[in-house]
Amino acid sequence: MIIAYILFGYDNDTFMYEGVEHTSPPKCPKCGHLIDFDYTNPYYQLKKKISDLSHPYDIGTIVSLKFKEFCERNRYNVRFKELEREANFYQLVVIDKVEYDYERRKTKLTGFCDVCKNYEQAIGAAPGYLKHVTRPLLDGIYRTDLQFGAGDRKRYLIIVSPETYEKMKKEKFKGLYFEKIEVQ
Ligand SMILES: [Zn+2]
Repeated sequence: MIIAYILFGYDNDTFMYEGVEHTSPPKCPKCGHLIDFDYTNPYYQLKKKISDLSHPYDIGTIVSLKFKEFCERNRYNVRFKELEREANFYQLVVIDKVEYDYERRKTKLTGFCDVCKNYEQAIGAAPGYLKHVTRPLLDGIYRTDLQFGAGDRKRYLIIVSPETYEKMKKEKFKGLYFEKIEVQ
C-alpha cells in the first residue's frame, strides 16, 4: 500500500546562500552551520523559470505562483516567503512534520551537534520510510524531521499524501517528480 510520496524538484543551478551575496542568517555557535534551512536570501535570483518547483544546490525549495495558488486553493498548511527579486516565485516552507525512519533506510548519519540538533552529514534519503505511518497520509504537504545533505547544504524531504499526489498530477506541474513510500 502506498502511504505517501516524496516530492522532488530538479536542481535549478543556483545557490541560496553558499558563495553568493547574502545577509547574515544565524549560525550554530558550536558547529558553525546554518540553523534555519528555510533561510531566504533577499538577493536570491532564479536562473531558469521553467519548473513549478526546483531546488537551489544548497538549501530550500523554490515554487511558482501556480504552485502557490494550488496550495492556497487546497488550504495546505505551508508558507510562501516572497523573493524580493523574483515576482512570480516563492520559497516554500513546509510546516507539518513526519518522522523519517532513518534506521530502516540505513541513512548514514555523522557528526550530531547537540546544540543545533543537526547532523554534519545525513546521506541516503530514498527510497523513503516513515515512522508510525501505517495508512495513507491525509491530503496535505509534510516535511521530514531529518534534513538530508552535509554542512550548509541540507534540506528536508517534502512528503505528500497519495490524494495530494493525484491532485498535483492533474495540475500538470512542470519539474515535479515523485517517489512512492510503501508499507507492506
Ligand atoms: Zn550545531
